[in-house]
Amino acid sequence: MIEGDLFKSLFDVIPFDVYVVDISSYEIIYMNKKMIQSRGDYIGQLCYERIYGEPKPCLFCKIPYLIDSKEAKPLDKTIVFELFNPVDDRWYQLQEKVITWPDGRTTKYSIAVDITELKETQNRLAEAHAQLALKNKMLEKLSITDSLTGLYNRLKIDEVLEITLYAAKRYGRTFSLLLIDIDHFKNVNDRFGHLVGDKVLKQMTEVFRSQIRKTDHLGRWGGEEFLIVAEDTDLQAAGQLAEKLRKAVESAFFPEVGTVTISLGVATWRDSDDRITIVQRADNALYKAKESGRNQIVVEG
Ligand code: GH3
Ligand code: MG
Ligand code: MG
Repeated sequence: MIEGDLFKSLFDVIPFDVYVVDISSYEIIYMNKKMIQSRGDYIGQLCYERIYGEPKPCLFCKIPYLIDSKEAKPLDKTIVFELFNPVDDRWYQLQEKVITWPDGRTTKYSIAVDITELKETQNRLAEAHAQLALKNKMLEKLSITDSLTGLYNRLKIDEVLEITLYAAKRYGRTFSLLLIDIDHFKNVNDRFGHLVGDKVLKQMTEVFRSQIRKTDHLGRWGGEEFLIVAEDTDLQAAGQLAEKLRKAVESAFFPEVGTVTISLGVATWRDSDDRITIVQRADNALYKAKESGRNQIVVEG
């Protein structure tokens, strides 16, 4: 057993608060110099009352885990845990162990390190991480979104096409492309100005949105061109969708402009297709729709 004074002087050199409690009475029987200087002398008082402001032994008290309950003997075990003390509004890391005190009593010592600043830094860091994650999400969304219409941009709809092509090849699923171009859109800009042209593009987006399914991916392909990648849609179904869109646009009223029409080229996936060839066929179909007078759909096999 370490001689009493040596024990105390060892605790006195520890640069944190150290206190020792009699485990049978919870009476504080020792505090190191550092703790007495910063808090005052609590020796003789009950730890749960004086240190933690509790009317009875604390729920988090570690004494039951630090003794051999059958023989009421100290276990050779140290518990380290973090704790918020509402009495002084600070966070502590506590290191606790039950030892036999030089006078023979079974006691528990606690070394309490004030980690409030560390906790605050951790909290700020966690908050910064959360903010960063949010910003990343926003950036990610921005990078795939067309700023005028809020639709997928060219990059993203291209990626959707790539994935859909892969699924078609891998799992034998079919899909169709609808390439849409606004008729005489240059005239809209020339007559009503670019801002009105922008409004038409936005409203057109809403018309499309109201007509398509969740499995139809709509993106802005370029200026006044849109692309729909329609999953699990064969040639006939794609033709029906194209006609539905054409009619919806034709019958929509665009304030400041009146009526606007679209032409659509439709192509359905073939085994031999890659990204270029299927878009080319949709583009050829669109060209034919324009050639044959606009405001119509042309379906390519
Ligand atoms: P067509 O029936 O042959 O498609 O005729 P068009 O006038 O629509 O075709 P063209 O390709 O000659 O013109 C497309 C117009 O779309 C020209 C361009 O100024 C306009 N445009 C492209 N992007 C935007 C945009 O973001 N906002 C506005 N307001 N106009 C745009
Ligand atoms: Mg065009
Ligand atoms: Mg056009």
